[in-house]
Amino acid sequence: MKIAVYPGSFDPVTNGHLDIIERASKIFDKVIVTVMKNSNKVAMFTVEERMELLRKVTKDLPNVEIDWGTGLLVNYVKKKQAHFIIKGLRAVSDFEYEFQMALVNKKLEPKIETLFLTTSSKYSYLSSSVVKEVASLGGCLKELVPDEIIMDIVRKVREIRETRG
Ligand code: ADP
Repeated sequence: MKIAVYPGSFDPVTNGHLDIIERASKIFDKVIVTVMKNSNKVAMFTVEERMELLRKVTKDLPNVEIDWGTGLLVNYVKKKQAHFIIKGLRAVSDFEYEFQMALVNKKLEPKIETLFLTTSSKYSYLSSSVVKEVASLGGCLKELVPDEIIMDIVRKVREIRETRG
C-alpha cells in the first residue's frame, strides 16, 4: 500500500492545499494530511481546530486521513509506515527551502521519498497568510478557501477581535 504524508501548518487550509490533497489522493492509496505543531509560528487556529477544518473539506475523500504530528517529520512518517512526503510548490521562492528539507530528510531516512506537486496556476498566489490577512481586513474569502469553512474563519476573526477589545 502506497501511503503519503502531506505535512503543513494548514492555518487554515486553503483551496491551494485542497487541490494538492485531491491530486495526491488520486496517486496514493492513502494520504495522511498532518498538521505539524510548530512552536516557531504563531497560529490563528489551534491544532484541533485546524484538523476539524481539514476534516470538513476532505469528508468526500475516503482515502484521506487527518492527523497531527510533532518533532522530526521522518520519524512521524516512519511511525505511520508511509514512504512518501508530499509537498506543494507555488513559486521558485518555495523551492530553495523545500529542496534543502528534502535533502535533509533523505539523509536522515533514505527510504523516504519527497515528491513535489506543482500548484495549479489559479492557486499560485494563495497561502494561509493571505487568507488570514484578507479575513482580518473583512475581505471576501470566496475562492480562497472552500465555501464550507468560510464562516468558521469569519467567526474566528470576530472572536479574536472581541478578546482583544
Ligand atoms: P502556507 O505556506 O500556506 O502557510 P503550509 O505551511 O500549511 O502553508 O504548507 C503546507 C504545504 O502546502 C507546503 O508544501 C506548501 O508549499 C503547500 N502549499 C501551500 N499553499 C499552496 C498552494 N497555493 N498551492 C500549492 N501548494 C501549496
